[in-house]
Amino acid sequence: MYRLIWFVICFFCLTSCKSSKEFTGFSYDPVDVTNTNDKELDPQPKRIIGADSPKVWVSNEFDGARANDFYALNDSTFEVYIAPENAPINNSPWYAFKIWSDTVRMAKIQLNYRDATHRYVPKLLSWVQADSSWEEQWELEVEYDSTNGTATFDVLLANDPIIISGQPLHTSSKLKKTLWDREIIGHGFVKVREAGLSKLGRPIWELDITEVAEDQKAPVLTLVGRQHPPEVTGYLASLIFLEELTSDSELAKKFRQTFVVKAFPMINPDGVDLGHWRHNAGGVDLNRDWSNFNQPETRVIRDALSWMKNHDLRRMFYAIDFHSTNENLFYPINQEVKTTPDDFTQKWVGRIIENNPETEFRIEEFDTSSPIAKNWFYNTFGIDAITYEVDDSIDPEQLDSVSRSAANLLMELLLEEWEKSILEN
Ligand SMILES: [Zn+2]
Repeated sequence: MYRLIWFVICFFCLTSCKSSKEFTGFSYDPVDVTNTNDKELDPQPKRIIGADSPKVWVSNEFDGARANDFYALNDSTFEVYIAPENAPINNSPWYAFKIWSDTVRMAKIQLNYRDATHRYVPKLLSWVQADSSWEEQWELEVEYDSTNGTATFDVLLANDPIIISGQPLHTSSKLKKTLWDREIIGHGFVKVREAGLSKLGRPIWELDITEVAEDQKAPVLTLVGRQHPPEVTGYLASLIFLEELTSDSELAKKFRQTFVVKAFPMINPDGVDLGHWRHNAGGVDLNRDWSNFNQPETRVIRDALSWMKNHDLRRMFYAIDFHSTNENLFYPINQEVKTTPDDFTQKWVGRIIENNPETEFRIEEFDTSSPIAKNWFYNTFGIDAITYEVDDSIDPEQLDSVSRSAANLLMELLLEEWEKSILEN
């Protein structure tokens, strides 16, 4: 009898825990996430919506936009309703919309999310020059309501539209110009090529950075990023890494004369331009598709790199996958797992922490079982790799200084480890 009661209690607990997990939609790895076959997308109709009188207008007719509906709640408050591309999905409620008013007025804007609670501090981008450049950007203070997960802020509206977005807009068509502006491309030692196409036909750009001759044996550093569209601070960190890797410092020159860098800064351009919270145009989390390769974007990266397995002249040596979350967080491979080079991430991260005492970091080691990018690098090449997570709300100056420091420490340590590996062989 006791047994039966325990059985009933346990059964009830298990089923209720399970169902609460299924319904939140916040789980990082919900059931079936590693089935990476195409899933249906909920459409986001592109339109301009007016509310109240005189009218306030919201538009999602631009790349990166996400705003599913717009209502007047009363004569001073408006709701922007934001829904993900599909669900279950983790709590990365991206939004971006244009807003303007027929009359100059203050308005309260409430962000209301389906399947999520507020996460990204709104950034306001305003039209400050007539030459069609959106120049000024600042953060808006929100009032957060923890019971329903909404965020409300005040904003001055006028005839000229402003853009309000969860992070600065860095859409796919801007990538090449950004690389030029940051002087990452334009050098003889940087080649840009289209590695392949996304599901909807957008190019996935690859940068090859090296001063090594084609017939010279060399180790390879790979950078991938922007698997998850709203993770802009990780993307910006990767661009700062690329600036350092292409700089004219003695260290960077020596690094380029020894290493080959292969960089894929934006591997989910469809998700970015469609204003997705996390998935690609197949409705799939790309960072769970590194074992099945059901999606074109992961296949593009695999095919651009896997020829180096057991290659005479090119040896994959280390890989970084850039992301963002609510803190600066490094996910190394478990120290117990033997990689070549071994424990590189632990050494590198140790130096980053030592050299950036004003910044908080956390380290969380993981095993190599899940089908994420880092584990594909380990499983394919036996190398060490890292998931490099940058705080969503890191101060831009801190992002700049930490990323530069981390990139230089990376080059130093990679050179040391490569020299060591030559001596050992
Ligand atoms: Zn991510």
